[in-house]
Amino acid sequence: MAKTSILIVEELTQAVMTALEQAYETHRYWEAPDKDMLLSAISDRVRGIATTGHAGASESLIQALPNLEIISCYGVGVDAVDLPAAARAGVIVTNTPDVLTDDVANLAVGFVLAVSRDLVQGDAHARSGAWERDGNMHLTRSIRGKKAGIVGLGRIGMDIAKKLEIFELEIHWHGPRAKPGAPYPYHPDLTEMAAAVDYLLVACPGGAATRHIVNGAVLAALGPEGSLINISRGSCVDEAALVAAVETGTIGWAGLDVFEDEPRIPEALKQSDRVTLQPHAGSATVETRAAMGALVVENLALHFAGKPVRTPVT
Ligand code: NAP
Repeated sequence: MAKTSILIVEELTQAVMTALEQAYETHRYWEAPDKDMLLSAISDRVRGIATTGHAGASESLIQALPNLEIISCYGVGVDAVDLPAAARAGVIVTNTPDVLTDDVANLAVGFVLAVSRDLVQGDAHARSGAWERDGNMHLTRSIRGKKAGIVGLGRIGMDIAKKLEIFELEIHWHGPRAKPGAPYPYHPDLTEMAAAVDYLLVACPGGAATRHIVNGAVLAALGPEGSLINISRGSCVDEAALVAAVETGTIGWAGLDVFEDEPRIPEALKQSDRVTLQPHAGSATVETRAAMGALVVENLALHFAGKPVRTPVT
């Protein structure tokens, strides 16, 4: 029997590529010099897409594949997949929730520690010889008793909250609607919460609904003793406003894993020693990436075996 045909939009890990190549006739979209030509040659055959949270699947790609049944996304954030277009075409979308929660939350906690204890500056002070030459580094800041405001108390947001409680921070949160069971004070107004906390941690989804929810007014409310931590999506923060806030000292510190135009990072953020950067590495551990890859493969396999997928995006 002929193998089912799938389109791989962006290169996945070696383990995932091997598993997909064994099970399916695979087409490598990112390698095609003429993508329209590739699509017109294979469009009737393709029944599945494997993609990443970064590459997603656009409306035009979904429309170009009339027999598409499933989009299996490597990542929990599906803001780059055109979900309305997939729904209109009757295409199932799957993602990789839960398996990455722990590592992404850990990076957020790492940022809280890094910006408070000036870990990057301390490393430079020790490594560069400045300690020997100039003496001790400046004192840093304790986190116990400080307030953290979580934007988006979902899987990752809740895990961040639980972990920060261990460090004796007081947790607050903001989201689109109150949750009756949430054990922390709810702030319906994000600017008001930013004014009330020391650390503002962004853990909501990207996409149009959350674009620039952290704007200049929110940063001004966070204030010169406040820190912004973003492990969600670059689109959630108005990056121009953030650059201005860092340059003028409107906010104190920032820990950033995600950016508006990845992999490009504004020069002012790279230059500031009050900003700790990571290259969108929240889920980038060997263990988590293996688990995410296994879910991508499993969702496709379940669907083509006529079974319900494990992690549909609802
Ligand atoms: P989740 O369980 O769906 O949680 C998202 C939370 O955000 C939900 O509680 C949701 O509230 C809330 N939310 C929705 N719209 C909001 C808004 N306008 N303002 C504030 N909160 C809002 O998702 P998750 O698994 O925690 O993942 C969260 C996001 O993290 C992903 O979408 C992805 O963009 C990002 N992420 C980043 C990395 C990385 O490498 N840095 C890795 C994984 C994920 P309701 O429940 O009330 O709808």
